[in-house]
Amino acid sequence: MAFEIRRKTVTTLVGDVPVGSSAPVAVQSMTNTDTADPRATAEQVLALARAGSQLVRVTVNNEEAAAAVPEIARRTADAGVTVPIVGDFHYNGHLLLAKYPECARTLAKYRINPGNVGGKRRDENFRTIVQIAGDNGKPVRIGVNWGSLDQDLLTQMMDANAASPTPRDAKDVYIEAMLASALRSAELAEEVGLGHDRIIISAKVSGVQDLVDVYRLLAARCDYPLHLGLTEAGMGMKGIVASTAGLSILLAEGIGDTIRVSLTPKPNGDRTEEVLVAQQILQSLGLRSFAPQVTACPGCGRTTSTFFQHMAEDIQTYIREQMPVWRDERPGVEELKVAVMGCVVNGPGESKHANIGISLPGTFEEPKAPVYVDGKLFTTLRGDTIVHDFLGILEEYVASHYTLRARETAGV
Ligand code: SF4
Repeated sequence: MAFEIRRKTVTTLVGDVPVGSSAPVAVQSMTNTDTADPRATAEQVLALARAGSQLVRVTVNNEEAAAAVPEIARRTADAGVTVPIVGDFHYNGHLLLAKYPECARTLAKYRINPGNVGGKRRDENFRTIVQIAGDNGKPVRIGVNWGSLDQDLLTQMMDANAASPTPRDAKDVYIEAMLASALRSAELAEEVGLGHDRIIISAKVSGVQDLVDVYRLLAARCDYPLHLGLTEAGMGMKGIVASTAGLSILLAEGIGDTIRVSLTPKPNGDRTEEVLVAQQILQSLGLRSFAPQVTACPGCGRTTSTFFQHMAEDIQTYIREQMPVWRDERPGVEELKVAVMGCVVNGPGESKHANIGISLPGTFEEPKAPVYVDGKLFTTLRGDTIVHDFLGILEEYVASHYTLRARETAGV
């Protein structure tokens, strides 16, 4: 049973993706190619979208990048993918959006960092971007970041705190400055004429507890949809665990309408990992389903060989590789639950909780593998073809339980 109690927010449409209110929490990602290279960037946008990213952000950092945005969108559409592309602007967004109107029209949303819209003319530059967003019917994300907070505002608030008879902890003031920057910017955007339902807010920090503190306060003070993410989460396991820890607390409280997991990839690593991690967070919390879940025991001294590990991996890989086909043909298959267990201690019990489960023989157990389907013993597999036979049963289960989607046949 999902426990989600979503905080009430307005809904913002980003392209055709609803963000906020009762819409499913949207997964987004960001490219790390040079946006000025439309071929490489379009390829990565496609990879991220195909992995399940519903919004893909690209940096628009210079004229070449702004000029390339329409071609990136064209190439993506030509490949049959229509994912909303979001532009990330710092320092010169007002200039680029004004000079490259096709870029402004193509992007589905503009991300503005209020700390990076340019020195003394900050408000004027911010207004220009918002005005262009309004003229093009685009929403904006006001994305405050711990690492690039509006320094004038921070100094003002720090000075006021220092002069107070009861000064607060500097970190609290920092957090308040982030909130003030985000909310004042949203107010300014609305003054310029942008609709209340055209604004998404984020306030990213790199520490898990700080993230939770910032977003709890933000959620209490506004009804804009919130984009969640731990900024600079880091590499590999550290980035995954830290992002999961922070995002899970907030999502479990109903805070967060769209998420990104900002992982630092290994050199030439797979950028789509951040999409899969974001999906897994949402699925583990019971908020969304993206792919069948495989419950596998960790194995222990009762599992005699690596056979069990290979089997768990083979089944997981098979499901992952089948998903593009199943997703298309067998709607609902993402709810499927599979159990792959190492021995009879928890094997049959866990298998009964899954739609389909197998329990391998552990040390000193009879060499047979009972398979349970919908809680009942279905068959017992033996011999060298256990994995193959189990996958056959799995395919039959999918075919018989998830209706084949009718294909549109033009001209028939
Ligand atoms: S199910 Fe069996 S093999 Fe798996 S961890 Fe438990 S006791 Fe060990």
